[in-house]
Parts: sequence; structure tokens; C-alpha cells
Amino acid sequence: MPLSTTPPAIPAQLSQNARTVLAKRYLVKDAAGKPTETPEDMFWRVATVVAEADRRYGASDAQVQALAEEFYALMTQRRFVPNSPTLMNAGRPLGQLSACFVLPVDDALSNGQNGIYDTLRSMALIHQSGGGTGFSFSRLRQKGSMVRSTTGVASGPVSFMKLYDASTDAVKQGGTRRGANMGILRVDHPDVLEFITCKEDLTQVTNFNISVAVTEKFMQALQAGTSYDLVEPSSGRVVAQLDARTVWDKMVLGAWRTGEPGVFFIDEANRYNPVPHLGAYEATNPCGEQPLLPYDVCNLGSVNVGWYVTDGVVDWDAMARDIRTSTHFLDNIIDVNKYPLPEIDALSKRIRRIGLGVMGFADLLVRMGIPYDTPEGVEMGRRVMEFLDVEGKKESERLANERGPFPEWARSIWGPDETCARDASGARIRPMQLLRNCNVTTVAPTGTISIIAGCSSGLEPLFAVAFMRNQAGVMMPDVNEDFVAVAQREGWYSDALMERIAKTGSVKQSEIPERWQRVFVTANEITPEWHVRMQAAFQQHCDSAISKTTNFAHTATVDDVRAIYELAYELNCKGVTVYRDGSRDNQVLSTGATE
Ligand code: ADP
Repeated sequence: MPLSTTPPAIPAQLSQNARTVLAKRYLVKDAAGKPTETPEDMFWRVATVVAEADRRYGASDAQVQALAEEFYALMTQRRFVPNSPTLMNAGRPLGQLSACFVLPVDDALSNGQNGIYDTLRSMALIHQSGGGTGFSFSRLRQKGSMVRSTTGVASGPVSFMKLYDASTDAVKQGGTRRGANMGILRVDHPDVLEFITCKEDLTQVTNFNISVAVTEKFMQALQAGTSYDLVEPSSGRVVAQLDARTVWDKMVLGAWRTGEPGVFFIDEANRYNPVPHLGAYEATNPCGEQPLLPYDVCNLGSVNVGWYVTDGVVDWDAMARDIRTSTHFLDNIIDVNKYPLPEIDALSKRIRRIGLGVMGFADLLVRMGIPYDTPEGVEMGRRVMEFLDVEGKKESERLANERGPFPEWARSIWGPDETCARDASGARIRPMQLLRNCNVTTVAPTGTISIIAGCSSGLEPLFAVAFMRNQAGVMMPDVNEDFVAVAQREGWYSDALMERIAKTGSVKQSEIPERWQRVFVTANEITPEWHVRMQAAFQQHCDSAISKTTNFAHTATVDDVRAIYELAYELNCKGVTVYRDGSRDNQVLSTGATE
């Protein structure tokens, strides 16, 4: 018997900001745009759809009901929130629940499957359903090369990326937001220089983040101070050479100017590709945390780790229980998801990729009294991520024993296959483990779901202690409640102080004790090195990549950015993205200081 559509009589614990975002973007609305469901209805809609999947594995009515109630409690108490498409689409006609996709782009206008215009169509369908798309344009022939059928010349990857960009503008998701894309080009593609500078003009290609896929070979040439080969995609022929330092400097300069291009260390990502027999990673999702195969998909969800701290102590047992329930939740999504393309549906069921991550990490540190930019802070990051990874995998293993491992398991890096991925010394890249999912962990930006959960986003430090946030066109005040609580408890709270903090964007105020100035350190006060060290610490225990922005002060130099790009490589990050304060006009988050 299907579950009742009436939610449990337990209200969701939501802030006013969370309610505003939900009403604007997530709740089901009537023709006049008025919500026809409450946040509780929404969470119950999601909980029931996802719990129903257990029925396929023999769960009784009572068991499905109990699981739905558990999922409901998890979300309404803000301990875990799935990615936006799950909240928006579960139990609704589209039924598409995932945030991240990668589509292949073949070097043909149309071949009935994945030519440029075929994939353009697939992109529109994914955007319409609320997903974000990543593409590698590396297979497209370079600008100026011959097109045999028309005896014309090809216009190159950048021009087609602009076409995808224009199409993205036209398709609004659920009438509220536009799609997001990642455009990737290999560093050895002949058009790489055009690609690196294609977003110099900030009004261009605005619906894409761009990253250069940088190879080991390139990094070796950079370190040796030599040139490297540019390879024609259609023939594999070397058509030119470029000086590695010159190209690297152009990337770094772009990142300093506008934050783009980012870098995707493609060989490092492929080292951990769980299913190398099915293909190689070429691209990531829009925010970079998920390298994906062509036609691959990932549904994300994040545990609000700050929630588990009471009086400075982490309740690891409670966190472990929730990590397990959240993993179960994400695995169920694969069974109830309505994928926009048959290729995606097929691959998702063969590898069952999920992306469980964290949010509220900065809150966790604050509540433990540990400054983010310290060895203790970084060690805590490593530990939290290891815990998430180990507990998530225990649940994935339990599910594999009960429901079967993902069908490609035997030939994956988790299986017994002796030929599967090895490191330079011949050792396995991953230990053998029976798993339900080829990939369990990631760290997403949690841009919107962290507002719903009322916590700091992803693994990022606090953005500010008091600031104005532009969310879907609404300016919302955001004040850190932990800060207010400490200030009131210790007797140095005043409205004037909060206003000064909001205006200057800094907690370096004379009435704030030194210790709290350190603990409430904000993103712009943290040196770029600590940002990258934290990213690398999380990466150590993360299957996928990490969404992280390394913040720079406006005054940072090009050399500062170069040093960080090189440090990220040395520390085995899978990518790096920087943002220099004030280098773009319409920042999503802004403190008074940069307005
Ligand atoms: P949320 O908080 O809404 O769940 P995140 O900020 O964690 O989303 O982003 C997770 C992923 O969702 C991104 O990496 C990207 O793949 C996808 N995504 C984010 N914003 C958009 C958007 N505007 N359109 C399409 N996909 C998006």
C-alpha cells in the first residue's frame, strides 16, 4: 500500500531564510505561483518517494513507513539534505533527482547520438529537469581545420561552447533558474589559448565555468621548463608545440583577473576512476566536484556535520548513524530516479554512483573552538572526511550484501580484478571491498541546501559573521548564530558591533576577544595556502573531487595565484578554483567591504 501523503505532525526546523528560499524555488505552486504545499509536505513528498525503493528489495509496508519517517526526520532536523533537484522533483512529473551530468560531444554536427547538436538537445533536457551539465570539447577539431563535407573550415570548440551557452540562456529550469555548465578543454588541444581567454570579457559565456584539463605530461614540461605537444583531435597527430610556462602563465593570469579558467588535473582524477574498463574521465560537473564518464550522473546529498557538536564535543555515533541512513537514501535515489536519457539510465544502474558530502564543516570547527586556518583545523577536516568515507562505505557494503554490488563491481577498482588500477609500485589503488556504489563520497558546494539547513556551506570557512546574501534575487541578512550566542554569553554583544562587522566584513574589532577573532576567522582572512591545505586534507579520503574556492584578497598578485595552482598540484588535488575578492561584479555573497 502506498504511504500516506500527509506528513508526520512534526514541524520542520527552518529559519526564515530557509522558508523564503523554499517558497521561491522548491515548493509546488499553483498556476498563480502560490505554493500549494508546505515545507513539511515537500520533505514528506521526498521521504516517501525515496523510501518506496526499499519495497523492491522486500520491505514491508511498516518498514517503508518507518524508513520514510527516518528520512523525514533527517531532512526536517537539517541533519542531511539531498541536492536541489531531489527536493524539487521527487514525486512530481519530471521525477529527475540528480544535480550532475556529463555528456560527450563528438566531432560531428549530428550523428544521431552525441554529435554537437544531438548533445545540445540532451543538454536542454537535463537543464529543464534541474540538472547541471559538464562537457569536454576536446574531441572537436580545431579552429580553421578542414570540414570535408562542405570544404569549409571548422569554427572550433570555443564557438560551439558559445552555442551551448546561448541555448542555456533560453531554457529556464522550472521557470526560476538557468542551467549551469562546465566546459573543459585539454591543455594539448590546438585551440587551448583561445579557450583560456574566452571568458576574459565577463559578459561572455556566462552560463559556463571553464577549466583546462591539465595532464601529467604538461606538468612535467612545466617543471622542466620545456615545450609540449599540441595534438590534433581527429588524427592524433602533433601539429604544434607550445612553451608550457607561457600557457600556464596565461591560465594563472586569467584566474587572477576573473577566477577562470580553473584547472582540472585530469590524470590524477583518472587514477581513481572506479570503472576504467568503461572509459576515462574527460570532464566534471559544473562546480567541479564530480569527474564523470560520458553519460554519467551523480546524485548528491550532504550531512550537516556541525549539527553533531554539543558543548564542544562531536557525537560521532549519531553522525555515523546518519551517514548510513544518508547513504541508503542516495542509493535508493538511483532506483526511483527518472533519467532524461536512456544512456544515462543504463550507466547509472551499472555503476550506481552517489556523492555523499558534508556541509556545516566551518560550524563544526567554530563549535569546537578550532580556527580553520591551523594544523588542528586541517586535521579535523581530514578526520571528518575519513569518517564520512568509512561509514558511507560500510553502508554501501551492507547494501551490496543485501541487494547486490553494482553490476560492474568485479571489474572495478574495488573488485578482485588483478589488472585493475595500480599505482606506480604495482599496489592496488583501492582496497578490495564489496560495494553497492562505485563512488560514495564527494564534497559539493551546497550553495542552496546549506541555506535550507541553516549551516555553513560545504567544507568552506565562514564567509562572514554578518552579511547580506543575494539568493535568487532576494537580499537576505545572514548573521552567524554561534557568534551571537558567544557574544551574548560573554557580555560583549551589541547591535552596533554587528553593524560594524557587516559593514567592514571583519571580526577584527577591539571588543572581540582575540581567541574569538581567531575562531570566527572568515574566508577572506584565511591565506590561500590554508584553503588549499584544507581541500587536500578532504581529498585524501574522498572518492570524487572537492568543490572548493580558494579566496584571495583583492591585492593578491599573479604570483600568489601561480603558487597556489602549483601547490594544489603538489598536494594531489584533482582541481583548483580561485576567486580574488572584487574581481567580478555580481558576487553571490558580499560583505559591506566589497560592495
Ligand atoms: P544545491 O545546494 O542546490 O543542492 P550545489 O551548490 O551543491 O547545489 O551544487 C551541486 C551541483 O548542482 C553543482 O555542482 C552542479 O552540478 C549542480 N548545479 C548547481 N547550480 C546549478 C544550476 N543553476 N543549474 C544546474 N545545475 C546546477
